[in-house]
Amino acid sequence: MVDLKGQYEQIKDQVDRSVLDVIESTAFINGPEVHSFQKELEDYLGVKHVIPCANGTDALQIAMMGLGLQPGDEVITADFTFAATVEVIALLGLTPVLVDVDPINFNIDISAIKSAITSKTKAIVPVHLFGLAANMDEIMEIADEHNLFVIEDNAQGIGANYTSKSGFKKKTGTIGHVASTSFFPSKNLGCYGDGGAIFTNDDALAHQIRGIVNHGMYIRYHHDVVGVNSRLDSIQATILRAKLPHLDRYNKARQNAARKYSAAFQSVPNIVTPSGNCSGNSSICETCDCHVFHQYTLRILNADRDALVDHLNQQGIPCGVYYPIPLHAQKAYADERYNEADFTVTNQLVKEVISLPMHTELDDEQIQFITKTVIEFVTR
Ligand SMILES: *Cc1c(COP(=O)(O)O)cnc(C)c1O
Repeated sequence: MVDLKGQYEQIKDQVDRSVLDVIESTAFINGPEVHSFQKELEDYLGVKHVIPCANGTDALQIAMMGLGLQPGDEVITADFTFAATVEVIALLGLTPVLVDVDPINFNIDISAIKSAITSKTKAIVPVHLFGLAANMDEIMEIADEHNLFVIEDNAQGIGANYTSKSGFKKKTGTIGHVASTSFFPSKNLGCYGDGGAIFTNDDALAHQIRGIVNHGMYIRYHHDVVGVNSRLDSIQATILRAKLPHLDRYNKARQNAARKYSAAFQSVPNIVTPSGNCSGNSSICETCDCHVFHQYTLRILNADRDALVDHLNQQGIPCGVYYPIPLHAQKAYADERYNEADFTVTNQLVKEVISLPMHTELDDEQIQFITKTVIEFVTR
């Protein structure tokens, strides 16, 4: 699905040198590399505060702790996403409220958010799924109206831009009250182990979170709040510093591969190509870079998706099904409050979606082989 080796080869000299420098320095934890990476990511994103942490799941949990959410508070998020989002809500004793997604862009459905709001609702967690910016204008409007926090799960969307109706253009992860991201190796900005970060423009929240990631300490050995231990290490930070200057180029390479895939599938009636566009139509956005294609995900209509997965695997083509089971149907998160009629889109998508290889090193020959194999199978 991803060619991490090919990408490494291109930056090998710098990465190897930087990693050796960290080892020589022995500043493995909270060293200068972590601080420099934090500053460089703040500049890149245009956000006041980046707080590095151990992984993207911790980042979500710490963001919710920082906001002071309390057991019983309801948090609305998408039914069609990776389980980390709902997992941390449940772990903190908050009440997850899963809602359906939009069939065009796969992101959280705005009208479903509106109908899920109760007097206990405290936060909304939009996920910029597969790298496409969620509809932040409408989400922030709902949040303002009901006095809710917005926590952007930007694990799949780093580097994407969102252009608002009022004309501002901002990076995803800098629009809500706080955001989380992951540097898992296969993410658009991946390290060579685990890593994550929290972003916010709110000075007081940033201060709160800096203590939480460090055992609740604001002054050494004074534990003012219950915290966690969640750190990005210096080796991962130095690798991320080597990769950050290439992030825009990496995302462009993904967009180019996506365009080629979509052009090949354009006239195949039972394939729906991903919406590349924050305004909801299917062409890939040329102007605002709102989709960074963490995944390139097709909907396969009237054909056996699972048989296609097997066929591609037999042909040596990796592929993935993100995600095969709606979160509301997972044993850990099932709840009698949920009504199947409220999840028609997710229930359909889990049967239809397939994600094709997507990374920075895809070449034309690979794309041609993949698209030809898919098309032959679905039209036979
Ligand atoms: C990867 C991912 C996470 C979790 O990140 P980790 O670093 O693996 O903990 C959370 N949310 C989404 C949407 C993700 O894709």
